Amino acid sequence: MPPTPSPARPPSARTPFGHALAGLLDVLLPADCAGCGAERTQLCPACRHALTATRPGPTLLPWAHAAAPYADPVRQLLLAHKERGALRLAGPLGEALGRAVRSALGARAGAAPLLLVPMPSARAAVRARGHDPTLRLAGAAARSLRRAGLDARAAPLLRHARPVADQAGLNAAERRRNLHGALTVLPRARRGLAGRQPVLVDDLVTTGASLAEAARALADAGLPARAAATVAATAVHPPGQYT
Ligand SMILES: [Zn+2]
Repeated sequence: MPPTPSPARPPSARTPFGHALAGLLDVLLPADCAGCGAERTQLCPACRHALTATRPGPTLLPWAHAAAPYADPVRQLLLAHKERGALRLAGPLGEALGRAVRSALGARAGAAPLLLVPMPSARAAVRARGHDPTLRLAGAAARSLRRAGLDARAAPLLRHARPVADQAGLNAAERRRNLHGALTVLPRARRGLAGRQPVLVDDLVTTGASLAEAARALADAGLPARAAATVAATAVHPPGQYT
């Protein structure tokens, strides 16, 4: 069973309209910088630099690389994109995610076409936000990788197989138990993916428990992911990796 029921959405539901409106305002209004509040630019040069100048590195999961530490202004940029519909940030955030993908794969990045698999969002969260931020970032990352000459596409293969308890307050072992079997691969979504290297992608990695569960689900479906990439990480390994 999915974690939340999915009732038919009436055409007047505010989510699609809210999404369209947010996108329209995003284009029309000279918003302040989402990272630091600097006026009349959605992403000021200093905050863009914070997103582009760091060298991606491994997280607590050595096979998962992040583009930057989870600290302001990167943290603010991720929150603005995810929670406040600052959709134009998907480009620069996706570019950072693409660099993390290449870092995680190293020399294997060009060995086979890439398949970026976003961590699934709960359906209720997608409805409330009016968009799926992780799927959007995966698409933007795939575009940036194609611009760099790599064959990459994004595909939302994963979904929740059952509800999970809130992870807050759980230690790493408890998170693993809470999450085991929580994700599954959509059977129909696997068609036409033979020969592609799956890479898990997400906006943020904390303990890595969710990415580990996603890797298990992909492996059980015969699509072993050898790497994962995120825009940001709360903890890095080894410490001081990012420069
Ligand atoms: Zn800024």
